[in-house]
Amino acid sequence: MKYVLVIGDGMADTRLPELEGKTPLESLTLQAFDSVAGCQLGRVQTVPEGLAPGSDTAILSIFGNDPRVCYTGRSVLEAAGMGVALPEGSLSLRVNLCAVRPEGSGLAIHSHNGGNIHGEEALTLMRDLTEDAAFSRAMAAAGLHIHMTDTFRHIGVMQSDARDLAAVQLTEPHNVLGQVIDAHLPQMLRETDDAAARKLAADIRALMLHSYEVLQNHPVNQCRMAAGKLPANMIWPWGAATAMKLENFAHKYRKRGTVVSAVPLVWGIAALGGLKTPHVEGANGDLDTNYEGKVACALAALLQDGDDFAAVHVEAPDEMAHAGDLEKKCEAIRRVNDRVVAPLLKTLSQSGEDFRLLLLSDHPTLMTTRTHDGAPVPYAIYDSRTVAQAEAAGQPAPARKYSEGEAEGTPLLSDGSKLMALLFEQP
Ligand SMILES: [Zn+2]
Repeated sequence: MKYVLVIGDGMADTRLPELEGKTPLESLTLQAFDSVAGCQLGRVQTVPEGLAPGSDTAILSIFGNDPRVCYTGRSVLEAAGMGVALPEGSLSLRVNLCAVRPEGSGLAIHSHNGGNIHGEEALTLMRDLTEDAAFSRAMAAAGLHIHMTDTFRHIGVMQSDARDLAAVQLTEPHNVLGQVIDAHLPQMLRETDDAAARKLAADIRALMLHSYEVLQNHPVNQCRMAAGKLPANMIWPWGAATAMKLENFAHKYRKRGTVVSAVPLVWGIAALGGLKTPHVEGANGDLDTNYEGKVACALAALLQDGDDFAAVHVEAPDEMAHAGDLEKKCEAIRRVNDRVVAPLLKTLSQSGEDFRLLLLSDHPTLMTTRTHDGAPVPYAIYDSRTVAQAEAAGQPAPARKYSEGEAEGTPLLSDGSKLMALLFEQP
């Protein structure tokens, strides 16, 4: 028996006037999705009430973890996904390169991603910053180490015994765009007797301001500004998290598995559970990702390497919804149907192996707000044995829409972390 999980990130949505009162899933013709839903359709609460909806909390649940118990923050999952382990007595941070500009007597933030800086420019800025004599001394004194990437996203590991992280303001830079940064720099939100937390806030604040001194006149930024682009002239650490321990997936479910994704967050959740995370050439989390390569990678894990379980995660529907592009969100969903679920069903059916395939959206990403929502999502499970039996009896399985509306009348699985046991038919 083989088991497959397909996550279309952020596919679920609400009904929209542009789609004649239908959701994107309801408005599209999705044959592969419908044949999965024909076997079994339900609703699941992937994000426990009280937690912020996002792929971090939702996908932790889907892989069988209770985020109310294990979740410490997003950055530590991204760190794990990039192979950065967190030593005892340290925190992880997301470190953005952002764009600030003088405004009045202060600075205002104009981009949370440094005008989407990437490639050699991003690496040069981060390398020159961390090799600047005074800045590197300040980093060492603060106990900060930065793992660089060729994007605006970097991972910080900071030696710190701070435990009252809730008392420290580390603002998400994308939430304060256009604003003067003074009120959004690290500071204490309330009194705390955690001296390490106070030091953390003061150190990060000083490093941010220091980074601006080093980067503002850097040749890379001078070139960017001359070309009419935003400079990437300040580091912005946020999302501090302590180490996260997840139960080993293979021990818990007695299944060996592989997770195919393009985003560090999903790699991290998989890796902390002991699942394999091969990287597929050309898989990039965008609409033009390498769908065929991802499917081939999952099938090779199942049919050649002897894995019991393989997951394929596709980020594009979520990204297109964040971008506010309804047409592209619909196209991304169509591609998950045509280029992921359809070929998986076809090849596995031809392989002669019995299999079950779970399809779901991790959380809704709403076109109306361009952000995540915590409502339950529809899930569907295909079972090759059910389909074979129905065909033998001359009663082909009914097609049913994989959609929010079809799932409305089905019972709610209130604990998303039970979903994996449902797929594996375990109690
Ligand atoms: Zn998202």
